[in-house]
Amino acid sequence: MAILTRIGALLLLCLPVVITYSWTPISPDQSFPLPDVRSPELLPDLDNGAQATPGNASVALQSRWLSDFFSGGSQPWPVRGILKKSHRIRYCFATAEMKQKMECRLNEAIALWSEALGGGPGKDSGHNMEFSEVHFAGVHQLCFKQFIYKDWTGTRNPLVSKDVLAVFVKDEASAGGVSSATLGYTPQERASPDDLKRFRHRLTISDNNQAFTIAHEIGHVLGLQHEMARPDRDDFVEFRCTKLRGFAGAILSAQSNPENKDLTIQEISNKLCNDIYFALDNKFVAYNYIMTPDQGDQGESFDVDSIMMYGSTAFAAHYCGKTALDECPLVKIEKLNGVKVGIAEVEIPSHPSKGDVAFVRKYYPWKG
Ligand SMILES: [Zn+2]
Repeated sequence: MAILTRIGALLLLCLPVVITYSWTPISPDQSFPLPDVRSPELLPDLDNGAQATPGNASVALQSRWLSDFFSGGSQPWPVRGILKKSHRIRYCFATAEMKQKMECRLNEAIALWSEALGGGPGKDSGHNMEFSEVHFAGVHQLCFKQFIYKDWTGTRNPLVSKDVLAVFVKDEASAGGVSSATLGYTPQERASPDDLKRFRHRLTISDNNQAFTIAHEIGHVLGLQHEMARPDRDDFVEFRCTKLRGFAGAILSAQSNPENKDLTIQEISNKLCNDIYFALDNKFVAYNYIMTPDQGDQGESFDVDSIMMYGSTAFAAHYCGKTALDECPLVKIEKLNGVKVGIAEVEIPSHPSKGDVAFVRKYYPWKG
């Protein structure tokens, strides 16, 4: 309770974020508030998390929310602490400047989760997950002793363990509101050499992100994947890949690659919209939507209210809205007695849903 009160007080200090919506085709350097693009330098291993290898499809998983969860890739964050009781996600900011800029907003996003969960760890809230900034002798610790912006890495602060969640903040001006996160917890032996050179758990936000955007990224950190990438999503939403910004550019990009010289435009288009690796190779945002293989427990039914859903407007190349649903890359299907009767806009989720909360209670349970 004390923690919540403290966070509540912090909320009042957060500076407002001004979001400018752009409905005209926008350059790759701009973005909508919600979507997260995993920029190439921040991509998780392809066998780790969102980019689960199709070859792993036979591995039985335990969650509808996570591919590769428990199968050797990403996992729930482990229980730790002196009493070994709490799934504590320890984090640090990469630099003091980044902390100064976005600490308040990050706390706001953490509070969104806490509020949805009914408070911090405990019997009543039914979960045992908490975020905790790394401290040493009462002083908060930054991730890096020295940070080199050019390389987006630096010399690790030796007081910070290698498995912490490193929080990076990019300027809206340079990163265009882009945010990203690694998926769940990756054991050291599963981390790539590149990850081991820096931090293998990363949350990258932009200084114009609102709290709900960061709450979405926190969902990834906890292990949640995009709801609209579920293999059964076509029963609940329509994904119109060609309405995504960057589609035409991605076709040109693919055509310029000699490896694709035998493919027709239609084949390229199909691959861009259905092959996550092909989309990634051509830096096409469809990879945030492409269905991940059906792996094990699909659990609850599709949750259109999940914080892990993109709103209809996300990444739209042209104006998309209630009066222009045709231009929306993603719309929800309205059904009556199981029969499609129409489509509707997917609102940008503002807080974690009941399904998101159920995920945390299932994989970060209170065992008190
Ligand atoms: Zn995401």
